[in-house]
Amino acid sequence: MMDGVLKPGRYINGEWNAARKEWDYALLKVALCFPDIYEIGMSHLGMKIIYGILNNEKDVLCERVFTPWNDMEQKLRAMGEPLVSLENRKPLREFDIIGFSLQYEMGYVDVLNMLDLGNVPLRSKDRGDSDPIVIAGGPCAFNPEPMADFIDAFVIGEAEDAILEIAEMVKSLKFKVIDKRGDILKGLSKIEGVYVPAFRPNPPAFSVKKRIIKDLNNAYFPTSPVVPHIQIVHDRIVIEIMRGCPHQCRFCQACRIFYPLRLRSVDKILEIAEGAIKNTGYDEISLLSLSTGDYPHMEELSNKMEERFKDKGIKVSFPSLRVKSFDSHKGKVVMKRAGLTFAPEAGSERLRHTLNKKITNEEIVNQSALALRSGWRKVKLYFMIGLPGETDEDLAAIIDLASRIKNVSLSISPFIPKPHSGFESEGMLGLEELERKKEYLRSRLRAMGSRRYIKVDYHDARMSRVEAVLSRGDSKLGDAIYLAWKKGARLQSWKDYFDYNVWDRCFEECGIQPGDYLKKADKRDALPWSFIEA
Ligand code: SF4
Repeated sequence: MMDGVLKPGRYINGEWNAARKEWDYALLKVALCFPDIYEIGMSHLGMKIIYGILNNEKDVLCERVFTPWNDMEQKLRAMGEPLVSLENRKPLREFDIIGFSLQYEMGYVDVLNMLDLGNVPLRSKDRGDSDPIVIAGGPCAFNPEPMADFIDAFVIGEAEDAILEIAEMVKSLKFKVIDKRGDILKGLSKIEGVYVPAFRPNPPAFSVKKRIIKDLNNAYFPTSPVVPHIQIVHDRIVIEIMRGCPHQCRFCQACRIFYPLRLRSVDKILEIAEGAIKNTGYDEISLLSLSTGDYPHMEELSNKMEERFKDKGIKVSFPSLRVKSFDSHKGKVVMKRAGLTFAPEAGSERLRHTLNKKITNEEIVNQSALALRSGWRKVKLYFMIGLPGETDEDLAAIIDLASRIKNVSLSISPFIPKPHSGFESEGMLGLEELERKKEYLRSRLRAMGSRRYIKVDYHDARMSRVEAVLSRGDSKLGDAIYLAWKKGARLQSWKDYFDYNVWDRCFEECGIQPGDYLKKADKRDALPWSFIEA
């Protein structure tokens, strides 16, 4: 089966700390699916948390399933073999629950592909009593409507507690003989934070409130995560030190959906770190949160980590520092990777101010210089173009700012008005205008001539446009997603596989005008996700 398959390690079980449970002894069987490949899904903290919580339950078995790369999919289809879980190598249709983590909209077609390869009917309405219950959670569930045809129940918000309530509910009705599925779905719809599209009454009387974990410090955190055979994207111990963000940038969806801010204590973080080092053998820890530098006890944490782990050769990295918090983290245990990234988002202070992003140009220039002096070799700056109220002067300011920093590169993406963000009612610019802005930036770069070379990575505006439609859409999108999958769309967040023409044709064939979802809305208009209380 693995002959000629790229990276067979993606499909092999038996990694260190992987669950080893007897299939026949488990009362409830859950397939935890990630609609992207192994290296990405295995790096995702939410997967590790849910995997650990469910496998801690004696009578529950939880196994992992990732999207196969194209070569493996072709093999499976050619040989008539189903997509199976890693642990017990069981097809998806043999599980009681299939849970998807929806991290980005471009993975929607892979959800369909995994269900199809696992011999599960794609549409909820076509599933019967003998089919699994298909559940989805993650940031994309905050606008569930585009995927409502395919998902039986969405978990809105943090799943740590909800997943156990769901497991109990399905267990209690598992052996029901008549209308098992209907009763399970009814039961699920009564769990706080769970949305079952089949029972959606007419708005405005209806809303679903997100679930949150009140006490992050005592919430479950995995100290024995699975250690992969092959290198994954974040191949290290990851510890979530804080959930939520103290800032409220207006374009930001994450700060709203992970609101409010909650902390883990220094002692708890150290306890997790000790356990995870012992149980995995990793020598690197990454301290994770939306804005790690804002963790209020960082100095104490860095000092104690230094004290405890320096002699063991353990390094600590911070993946998400804000410009302002950078210089307070020069602790000796901090890893200096090749490049450090900052996200000013807009080139001018005027525009940045309207985003509620309170960083000055001076701070960006000074902190970048400090980073380069402290051992980082490069600085990467993230910007968006097409922001509400943006002018060409704001674009020129991106280049002016970058030209003041040595060893700098830029990453530039189109602005997408994400559901639940402060800009959710704003519009997204069309492809032509985005292209003009990109050309304008290029001309400003050219104008610097040979004096200066700045590498710029432009995110594909066509991919952003499709992502925006999928994130802002309603239930009519289901047919287009299905058609795109049928026409062969897979792994659409991968540049080499993204095919704009397929999406363009699918939208047209399904009578969908992308512009309808991307235009500025009246603040009083109900949006497709208005019934979700973030
Ligand atoms: S963009 Fe970053 S700093 Fe701003 S609110 Fe979002 S997570 Fe916080």
